[in-house]
Amino acid sequence: MAHTKLDKVTKVFTEDDGGEIVAVDEVSIDIDDGEFLVLVGPSGCGKSTTLRMVAGLESITSGTISLDDRTINDVPAKDRDIAMVFQSYALYPHMTVRENMSFGLEESTDMPDEEIRERVEETASMMGIENLLDRKPGELSGGQQQRVALGRSIVRDPSVFLMDEPLSNLDAKLRAEMRTELQQLQSELGTTTIYVTHDQTEAMTMGDRIAILNDGVLQQIATPLECYHQPNNLFVAGFMGEPAMNFIDVRRDGERLVTGDGALEYSLDEATLADLGEVTDLVLGVRPEDIEVVARSGSPADHEFEASVTVVEPKGNENNVYLDMNGIDLIAAVPGLRSIETGSTVRIRIPEAAIHLFDRTNGTALH
Ligand code: ATP
Repeated sequence: MAHTKLDKVTKVFTEDDGGEIVAVDEVSIDIDDGEFLVLVGPSGCGKSTTLRMVAGLESITSGTISLDDRTINDVPAKDRDIAMVFQSYALYPHMTVRENMSFGLEESTDMPDEEIRERVEETASMMGIENLLDRKPGELSGGQQQRVALGRSIVRDPSVFLMDEPLSNLDAKLRAEMRTELQQLQSELGTTTIYVTHDQTEAMTMGDRIAILNDGVLQQIATPLECYHQPNNLFVAGFMGEPAMNFIDVRRDGERLVTGDGALEYSLDEATLADLGEVTDLVLGVRPEDIEVVARSGSPADHEFEASVTVVEPKGNENNVYLDMNGIDLIAAVPGLRSIETGSTVRIRIPEAAIHLFDRTNGTALH
């Protein structure tokens, strides 16, 4: 177990033509002993590069990485007491499962053969692969290979596990099963884990905390629910959640928000107004599940609007209802038992308690 710390870690790649790519930009993350931290973000945001720097597979341009207060910037990968699991599994094809799992211990420790054998067998039985020990990777399914890859890192009993999209080659059902299994395993072993994925669902369900990266810059580090309910900025708000949060450009006019053409107005209470300070150009965000379809006629009450239904996407337990609210496209997630017809006009309510407001110039969350 280990307390792992990244302090202003930066990676700049120099291209052949002399151009520079800042892949990771002053990222600081403090990972608690035994924590499961998920590093998430879109393709190219710097997740793998960050992980590779922690592993020692990539040099660090500036900043420090430390393990239990010991700076490891210049410690070779093999001496870092860190095990990495790759998407590609990276098993040796000519070795049996047993040999793949023993190899690291034989190479880097002077552990007696008998103890290595015991540890490999113990780990194999924990991973449910004890009957595969004499097979070669080519004779295993993808899911079995992934178990071997995980087993190979567990058997070394490292201070930190680094996992780079380890489940992405598995089919959806197996991936969901392995997610749960991996989480249980990690909590039993209590080994600090940094897990990279581009999949926000995986991040939401697996992480004790999530670190969200965009363009090499850390956007937020918090529990999954905090990232979902209190996003720091527009990027995090849009990245977390499926279907994504709805965004509407608005302007503050006294105690109300108005859309550009003035067609829609939304009144705010004093507490919300206080959060806005002097900012007038805003983005209003509302999650699809927070838009209510209300059965009311007559003139709309505060925070109620008429919208026409363009598409209804049934998902079983709920429907994704695509709406046109005076030229503004919105998605509402409405409980599945409710029947809503394409082409109909519905009354929707956007409760003030559910709205997020962002500064449109820099994306910062204000409320
Ligand atoms: P993905 O999810 O697609 O794997 P990622 O978030 O892991 O993406 P990285 O692989 O860390 O992203 O890459 C971050 C940025 O650094 C990208 O712009 C990438 O093109 C660049 N990059 C990565 N490795 C190198 C390299 N060896 N030389 C030059 N640029 C690189």
